Amino acid sequence: MAEPLRLVLIGPPGVGKGTQATMLEQNFGVRPISSGVIFRNEIEAETDLGRLAKRYIDHGELVPNGVTIEMMAKRLRSDDVRKSGFVLDGFPRTVRQAEALDELLDEMDEHLTKVVSIEVPEDVVVGRLAGRLGCTKCGEIYQAQTKPPKREGLCDKCNGPLIVRSDDTPETTKARLHIFNEKTRPVIDYYAEKGNLLRVDGSGDPMDVYKEIIAP
Ligand code: AMP
Repeated sequence: MAEPLRLVLIGPPGVGKGTQATMLEQNFGVRPISSGVIFRNEIEAETDLGRLAKRYIDHGELVPNGVTIEMMAKRLRSDDVRKSGFVLDGFPRTVRQAEALDELLDEMDEHLTKVVSIEVPEDVVVGRLAGRLGCTKCGEIYQAQTKPPKREGLCDKCNGPLIVRSDDTPETTKARLHIFNEKTRPVIDYYAEKGNLLRVDGSGDPMDVYKEIIAP
């Protein structure tokens, strides 16, 4: 049987990683794994991990590597993900996380198919984040200008209520972009050196971005 797809999507907040992960899931059956979504679920469920993560997320800071790596490793080791393949959205965000991911994949004798850096000018992501809405039930993301829900305030997929994420405020957005430049850009260089990096222009239509991602 052919190897399942194992992808990493890297890009600043608001670049459209979640949208691309959903499209890849629909067309290839790969499991989308978003570290941000897992943290938000933990916060919702009021777990110890959720309480810890919230302290960082609310300030736009990164959750410490140790707990983040442990949480993602658990998910990546599950039988379901090993069989279906995955598309990682929001992880790795630091070079230490990228190294830990390599170590874990080596241990499981798995390899990344591709690492995709989705790139857009900073003013575009700031504009997108300003109108972003998320579903509180299923996590689907909407955008007031480019992807409005069919019914105001309600998710097209599951009817759940839509809210502005607590970390999409202008101050937190600024902090998150700063951290992206400082901590996550080196991850792009890390993969560029390894030779499995694909850079795509994320400013166009999501379907065009998608086609670039899946091009052989
Ligand atoms: P996201 O939904 O990917 O924008 O993530 C929301 C927030 O969760 C981030 O601003 C971080 O505070 C935290 N977070 C998500 N993924 C990671 C990660 N890989 N490492 C550290 N913190 C993360």
